[in-house]
Amino acid sequence: INSREPQLGERIGRRIIFFPLPLQGHINPMLQLANILHSIGFSITIIHTKLNSPNPTNYPHFTFHQILSEFDEYSDILSLLTMLNEKCVEPFKQALSELLGDKSGDPIGCLISDAILYFTSDVAKSFNLPRIVLRTGGVASFLTFAAFPVLLQKGYLPIQDSRLEEPIIELPPLRVKDLPVIKTSQPEKLYSLLHNMIQETKSSSGLIWNTFEELEQPSLTKLRQDFPIPIFPIGPFHKHIASSSSSLIPEDQSSISWLDKQANSSVVYVSFGSIASIEEKDFLEIAQGLESSKHPFLWVVRPGLIRGADWLEPLPQDFLDLLNGRGHIVKWAPQVEVLVHRAVGAFWTHNGWNSTLESICEGVPMICMPCFTDQLVNARYVSDVWGVGLQLENGNLERGEIEKAIQKVMVEKEGEEIRERVLCLKEKASICLRPGGSSYESLKSLKNYISLF
Ligand code: UDP
Repeated sequence: INSREPQLGERIGRRIIFFPLPLQGHINPMLQLANILHSIGFSITIIHTKLNSPNPTNYPHFTFHQILSEFDEYSDILSLLTMLNEKCVEPFKQALSELLGDKSGDPIGCLISDAILYFTSDVAKSFNLPRIVLRTGGVASFLTFAAFPVLLQKGYLPIQDSRLEEPIIELPPLRVKDLPVIKTSQPEKLYSLLHNMIQETKSSSGLIWNTFEELEQPSLTKLRQDFPIPIFPIGPFHKHIASSSSSLIPEDQSSISWLDKQANSSVVYVSFGSIASIEEKDFLEIAQGLESSKHPFLWVVRPGLIRGADWLEPLPQDFLDLLNGRGHIVKWAPQVEVLVHRAVGAFWTHNGWNSTLESICEGVPMICMPCFTDQLVNARYVSDVWGVGLQLENGNLERGEIEKAIQKVMVEKEGEEIRERVLCLKEKASICLRPGGSSYESLKSLKNYISLF
């Protein structure tokens, strides 16, 4: 895409440096974005940590630069994010200094860094390098994070159990229970991280989104008012061009051969992403719910999903017996391929933003079970704004409720209506990428913008 017409292969003579947050749900969209920008003419360098390092052999057209080979132990995700923002400063400075000093290739136009790596703002400024931010989540949840100071001031935060059902008048249709928090003994650490993310996004040269105008229009309008920087909603990224997988865990292809044997739209696909973990009692309740639903199911049970268990040990024998026929469990699936498959009828998801978008793009109705942070906001939008899924409301992880939710989505009228709406959004997600479509045009602007740096 250029200001005239799309010209695949045309080179622009500018290099862009990418720095992804080393977590699966952040690496995937950033490498997809790097592929998109490569396909329209930019050269690409990826700076990455040793932790969750992407596989360079999948991207022979990129240059990779590893930093921070030693890692401190971290107890939870919040500590990891805080540590990255502290420990990466010097190694990142050194990497930029080397890359900017190398005059042999295309000149470096800008840095694109994950919003959570807010420390990159000061470093980029010290080199006079423009920094564009990629936020890998949705706009609605980002605006909720931006509203944290007001939510604290008004007493919605910290969350009190007695107020869970209370609507947040400032952020409809959210309720207190939908606020994107993490259970932590150090909430100030979370508030400070979010504050820094928001401030350093505001001070950036631009903001790229893996979303599309037709999905999040009201949120994008508010964003443009509150963040007066260039905004580029160019998603869904994974639908622009075919990319190689950036999976950190091997994808079990038996998922597809098993789906091949199932009837059309008959399977419930269950996955809670790369980070969420659940209690053993909830895990068993999920298993019982799947068993009594009578539908075939493909279930991703990642090692580490069940707190205190290695893998499937908690499952009783009668459930394991189902696995030779009606059910299939894998440690990690080729998720997009699964969602594309004709046999999948519903996606029981934790509503990470990537999973949510992937489901919308394939027109798959969702059963929402958000665990923490932005997943809670995404799930509320899926069920109450877009009407493309229904929620297993908090605290209702009980086999009877699960069975009812699966029945509703798979066979009842409500499910049919949900399916119609998600197919309509799927169509919009496809149209926005075509010439004249919102994301196509926004990508054109992004290309022109970066070319001027
Ligand atoms: N994913 C996958 N196989 C799985 C589960 C997830 O490839 O078995 C991918 C999924 O397609 C998505 C990413 O991992 O792109 C998860 O990102 P998301 O934002 O949904 O959730 P997170 O893992 O960050 O909580």
